[in-house]
Amino acid sequence: MALIYLDNAATSVPKAPGVGRAVAEVIDQLGASPGRGGHRLALEAGRLLLEIRESVADFFGSSDASRIIFTSGATEAINLALFGLLQPGDRVITSSMEHNAVLRPLHALQERGIETVRITADASGRVSAEEIRAAAIQGPRRARMVVLTHAANVTGTIQPIEEVAEWCRQEGVLLLVDAAQSAGLLPIDVEAMGIDLLAVPGHKNLLGPAGTGFLYVRPGLQPTPLNYGGTGGDSASPLPPEELPERLESGTINLPGLAGLRAGLQYLETRGRQEVRRHKTALLDQLLNGMKHLEGVRIYGPGEATRHAGVVSINLAGRDPAEVGFRLDADYGICVRTGLHCAPEAHRTIGSFPDGTVRISPGLFNTSEDIEILLRAISELSKNQTRVHLKSSINARSPM
Ligand code: PMP
Repeated sequence: MALIYLDNAATSVPKAPGVGRAVAEVIDQLGASPGRGGHRLALEAGRLLLEIRESVADFFGSSDASRIIFTSGATEAINLALFGLLQPGDRVITSSMEHNAVLRPLHALQERGIETVRITADASGRVSAEEIRAAAIQGPRRARMVVLTHAANVTGTIQPIEEVAEWCRQEGVLLLVDAAQSAGLLPIDVEAMGIDLLAVPGHKNLLGPAGTGFLYVRPGLQPTPLNYGGTGGDSASPLPPEELPERLESGTINLPGLAGLRAGLQYLETRGRQEVRRHKTALLDQLLNGMKHLEGVRIYGPGEATRHAGVVSINLAGRDPAEVGFRLDADYGICVRTGLHCAPEAHRTIGSFPDGTVRISPGLFNTSEDIEILLRAISELSKNQTRVHLKSSINARSPM
C-alpha cells in the first residue's frame, strides 16, 4: 500500500529538494556559530546568516533584513510579538478562527491586565473586516492590536487581511498576522500590505525544516525580548542590545535549519509562486468537486477552491472523525489529521465542536492521482456505516 501524505497543514512532507542537503552542509562543512568569535568559520557563518535573512526579507517584501527575527516557528514568533509589545490596559481584537498559538498567549496575558475581544466568524470561517474595525475603534478605548490568522488552519478560509491592514494603518492600530497557513502559498508583501508584525513557520508551505520560522517587525516597533541571554556582542552589559535582530535573538541560532529554510524558498522561487498556488488550488478544486458528489459528506469552509488556502475539513454523517482518520491510515495508507487541530473556537464557530473534523491538506508534491485515491476511500467509508470508537488511541497519535 503506497503512503499518501495529506497533512501538510501540520508540516509539509516531503520537504523541497535540496533542503536536507543544505542542512547537512552547514553541519558537516561549516559548523560554527554566527556572531560568536572572530575566526574564519564564525565569520563565514555570519555571512551565511545575513544572506539567509536577506532572502527571507526579499521573499516577504521587507526592504530591511534586520526586521526579520528568526524563531523556532510561528508559535514563538506570535509569543514574541504579544508578550513583547502589549502592556497592561491594552485591548486586543482577534477572531474565533485562531489557533491556540494565539488563543493561549492571549489567555495568559489576561492575567497581566490585557483584554481580548473575540469576533465570531461566519459559518464558513470568514471574519468580517468591518466587525473587527468596529470592535477596535468603538470599544471603551481604542484597541492596541488586531491579531488575525491569514488563513484558518481548520477550514483554510482566507481572511480579508488587506482590508484589515488598510484600516489598521489609518486608525493607528497594530496588526499581527498569523501567516502559519498562508506564507509560501498566498502573496504576502509586508510593506505593500502595511502589515506591522508577521509570524511565519518555516516548516509548512515554505517547505523548510521544523524548528525554523520568523517574526517580521515593522520599523519603529521595539518589542521587549522573550528570551534574555548572550547575543555575541557587548558582553559586559547586563542589558540586551537595542539593535534588531540581535535584541530579540539571544542564544545560538539554528543555522543548519535556516539554511534548509532558504533552500525551501529557493525551490518555491524556481517553481514559481503562481504555479505553486495554481497547483494547490487545482488539487483542492478536484477534492471539493469530488466530495460534493459524495453522499453523507459534509464540507466545512467556503467550498470554492480559490477561497481555501491549502486546507479542507470534512465530516462523514454519523461517523467519529477520529475513526475516519484511523481507517484512512490503516486501510488506505492515507495520512490526514483529525480532531480539533489546536483551534477549539474555530470548531465552535463552524459547528464541529467537540469531535472536530477530518482535515485534508494536500502539499505541493501531491498529484491528482492521490486525490482520486482519497476520494475513492472516502466514498467507500461513507457507505460503510460500521461505527467504531477509537478516540483514545487516535488522540494519543495526534497530540497537537
Ligand atoms: N498558527 C496556525 C494557524 C497554525 O496552523 C500553526 C501550526 N499548527 C501555528 C500557528 C503554530 O505554528 P508552529 O508549529 O510553527 O509553531
